[in-house]
Amino acid sequence: MISTVFTFFSRIDCLTIKKEEGVVCRLEECGAKEERELVERPYRITLQAKMVIFAEVNPSLRKIRVRELENKRILLEGIPAYGAAHEMEHLEKREIKGIPLWTFEYIKEPTKNNQKNIQ
Ligand SMILES: [Zn+2]
Repeated sequence: MISTVFTFFSRIDCLTIKKEEGVVCRLEECGAKEERELVERPYRITLQAKMVIFAEVNPSLRKIRVRELENKRILLEGIPAYGAAHEMEHLEKREIKGIPLWTFEYIKEPTKNNQKNIQ
């Protein structure tokens, strides 16, 4: 089994977000925080770095094959894009700022038995 990941091997001043597309609301956990927070992440993100290292991880052989990519721009979509946006926020602001789950409004719905009595 091979898992493939991209790694950006660059200093923060060399790593930039070139483009963000779409907005996805997510409940994310971060660090030692005990609750999830609501954050908005781009569905697609284009990052540019001075140096991009491609790492292919093979857990069964415990080997990581790496090579530098000529392309210095990477387009990520979906979960990899959310993860990259999360890490970029750490690099830029250090802390993830979201809306805590405990501030959400709880709405109690009737159980199935109570629904039958209502109808
Ligand atoms: Zn985090």
